[in-house]
Amino acid sequence: MTVEPPVTSRPKRGLVLVITGNGKGKTTSALGQALRAIGHGYRVCMVQFMKGKQYGEVIAAEKYLPNFKVFQYGLDSFVMRDNPAPIDVELARQGLEMARRLIRSKEYDMIILDEINVALDFNLIPLEEVLELVRSKPPELDLVMTGRYAPEQLRQLADMVSEVQEIKHHYASGIKSREGIEY
Ligand code: ATP
Ligand code: MG
Repeated sequence: MTVEPPVTSRPKRGLVLVITGNGKGKTTSALGQALRAIGHGYRVCMVQFMKGKQYGEVIAAEKYLPNFKVFQYGLDSFVMRDNPAPIDVELARQGLEMARRLIRSKEYDMIILDEINVALDFNLIPLEEVLELVRSKPPELDLVMTGRYAPEQLRQLADMVSEVQEIKHHYASGIKSREGIEY
C-alpha cells in the first residue's frame, strides 16, 4: 500500500529565502522557485530592482504565465555604485514602495524581490525599511530576495540563505551577455 503524502493546507508558514553570492544563478534560481510555486496554483509576482530590460522571464511571464506578474524598477543601463544617478535612487524607492503595497495586499502567495540586496548595498534604499518590511510580512507569504552582497541583518532574519559561489564564468573567456542565458 502506498502512503499518500499529507496535503498541505493553507495557511502555511511563509518562508524568507535569500539567494546571494558572486556566482551566476541567483535570479534564475528565484525564477525556478516561482515556476514550482505557480505549478501548485500560487499567485506569484516579482519586483525587479535596477532592471529595465526585456528579459526572457519578463516576456515569458506576460505570454504564458497569467499567475506570474513582473514589475520592473530600473533603467536598461548600469547603476554606478558610488555615484548613482538620482533617477536610479528614485526608481529603487518606487520599487520598494511597490513591494510594500504588494506584500500588504495579500494578493500574492509568493513575492520575489529581485536584486534587492544590490539596491541595499548601493544605498539606493534604506536597510531598516527593508528589514521592517520582512518582519511585518503576512505570516503565510513566501518572500524570495536575491542579489549579491546580502546584508548580515537580512541573513539573520531569513529562514534560508544560499550563497552561489563562482567557480568559473564564460564571461572570462570573452563570451558576452547571451540571449537565453543572461537575458
Ligand atoms: P542569473 O540572472 O543568470 O541567474 P544572477 O542573478 O546570479 O544571474 P547577477 O549578479 O544578478 O547574477 O548578475 C547579472 C548577470 O551578470 C548574470 O546573468 C551573469 O551572467 C552576469 N554575471 C554574474 N556573475 C558574473 C561574473 N562573476 N562575471 C561576469 N558576469 C557575471
Ligand atoms: Mg540576478
